[in-house]
Amino acid sequence: MNDLKNKVAIVTGGASGIGRSVAELFALQNISALTIADIQSDLMHELSIDLEKRFDSKVLISKTDVSNQVAVNQMVQQTIDCFGQVDILINNAGICPMVPWEETTLENWNQLLSVNLTSAFLCSQAVLPYMREKKYGRLIHISSVGAFIGSVTGHVAYGVSKAGIIALSKYLAKQFASEKILSNVVSPGSIDTPITESFGEENKKRFREFSPLKRQGTPQELAEAVLFLAGSGSSYITGSTIHVNGGSLLI
Ligand code: NAP
Repeated sequence: MNDLKNKVAIVTGGASGIGRSVAELFALQNISALTIADIQSDLMHELSIDLEKRFDSKVLISKTDVSNQVAVNQMVQQTIDCFGQVDILINNAGICPMVPWEETTLENWNQLLSVNLTSAFLCSQAVLPYMREKKYGRLIHISSVGAFIGSVTGHVAYGVSKAGIIALSKYLAKQFASEKILSNVVSPGSIDTPITESFGEENKKRFREFSPLKRQGTPQELAEAVLFLAGSGSSYITGSTIHVNGGSLLI
């Protein structure tokens, strides 16, 4: 497949879990170049060596806290300096700390919203001038079932941040449709990544039971939906949300 052949993508949170699978699938699809923006330097380093060994795509790793505007702008500038363009942005970086209501504070509420939601605004704002210049762009944002039913586990602000992602995407879809920039969301159910691993086996069992398919999804299954939205097959889709949750919202 050469759908992504001349394209350059930024994948935030690309060192681990879903973002890592997206980076691998994009490289498998012969994407020209990838920037992986994460706070996990060692994991990014190891991933870039692995990708460059197995695929032809160029890989830039950028240690970036995506909730920090200066860092985000530097990361996008680095991408432009290295590859000359940015066509696809995957707003994927996120956290899901287990914090009960009694321990919820304004500080941890603000922290979660900055990492999960403000980051998507900052990254979108930073790449849009380049997409608008080319009259081409794909903005793909990772939400969660928590946006639809409230946080499944973790902090109250988690579901709030993920609902905000959907509203942000719809705004961007309307605002930039005339410039051929599409904005869509992929909304995962429970996916087997280090985030859900950290919740322990009891919770993972609960997640499996929650889905009519009686299992967690794999990061690769999530990456397939992201690839669809990044490729030419989704050219008439904008402002949409694709649910990848094993039917979890049916019950
Ligand atoms: P993951 O394996 O923990 O990957 C997320 C990556 O983002 C990690 O490397 C993480 O680093 C990094 N990150 C955290 N804060 C960051 C920041 N401020 N700047 C840059 N990078 C940062 O998690 P995942 O399960 O793949 O999650 C990816 C996305 O899917 C998240 O937005 C998550 O909310 C969403 N999602 C996941 C599930 C699920 O079941 N897995 C379900 C619904 C939605 P650290 O490890 O240091 O935090």
